[in-house]
Amino acid sequence: MRCRICGKKAVYADQRLCKEHFIEFVKRKVEKVLKKVMNLEEKRILLAVSGGKDSLTMAHLLKGFDSEKELLYINLGIPDYSDEAEKIVRKFAKEHEYKLNVVKLSDYGFTIKDVYEAWKKGLIREKVCSICGLAKRYIFNSFAFEHGFDFVATAHNKTDAKAFAFLGIASGNFEYASRLAPINPGKKELRLVGRIKPLFYVTEKESMLYALLNRIKFLEATCPYAGGASQLRAKQLLAKIEEEFPNFGNNLLKLVRKLPKKEQELRTCEICGYPSTRRICKFCRVRELLNRHA
Ligand code: SF4
Ligand code: ZN
Ligand code: ZN
Repeated sequence: MRCRICGKKAVYADQRLCKEHFIEFVKRKVEKVLKKVMNLEEKRILLAVSGGKDSLTMAHLLKGFDSEKELLYINLGIPDYSDEAEKIVRKFAKEHEYKLNVVKLSDYGFTIKDVYEAWKKGLIREKVCSICGLAKRYIFNSFAFEHGFDFVATAHNKTDAKAFAFLGIASGNFEYASRLAPINPGKKELRLVGRIKPLFYVTEKESMLYALLNRIKFLEATCPYAGGASQLRAKQLLAKIEEEFPNFGNNLLKLVRKLPKKEQELRTCEICGYPSTRRICKFCRVRELLNRHA
């Protein structure tokens, strides 16, 4: 198969593009998100990296856009996984001349392994991934706020967005689904830093191909706690439905983006001062519970 633009050998069959035109195609998708940020070149962006293909693809792609950027890796204390991921991120940062910040979740008094143990004992009802996601969001936001960043960039791709829309609709949580967007501006008075998802229009397959074509070394191991993640289940189900209805996920995305946006009512946590829907934020509550049972 030949590239539909230049006639060279195609590497991406879905769009019939050669390597060069595929990379350009992905860059344009990222540009579509970044164009929505006013005066991007003056902004300080903190890139949340995990060592996986998506976050390193994002960091690789963002090198081509003007603005001040640093990486943040959170070592979650997941056995045989977090340290390996940290090594990969350190190597990537060195090779691509990025300033890397590393934060350990254990500095906050617990690890994701502790969350898993507490969940096994029935001390925590939520799934490990849900607490892990919460801890990551909390640390990315607080680190960005304390270090004067304008945005946190996360590597959620289009396939993640479709799964998010699917879960929101499946559970009837339309408010949650309506907040799906490539950019969320943040609120300084609540110590809430803005969010960008540069890969919002890039599919998982495209992100993987980009990483492979650019020889990005990423973590291939799967997190030992990933099995029960509802996101993963949603992706598998969507892929099955899309075998028969190829546009199902895209249409879901269009649908949730048309839902009336309902802002979450936020206040600041009485313990840590970061945004919360209740008097004490969820992160502080989890932290207190785990410390009590440590
Ligand atoms: Fe955290 Fe779940 Fe991802 Fe593992 S799979 S890193 S527990 S969110
Ligand atoms: Zn071409
Ligand atoms: Zn708090």
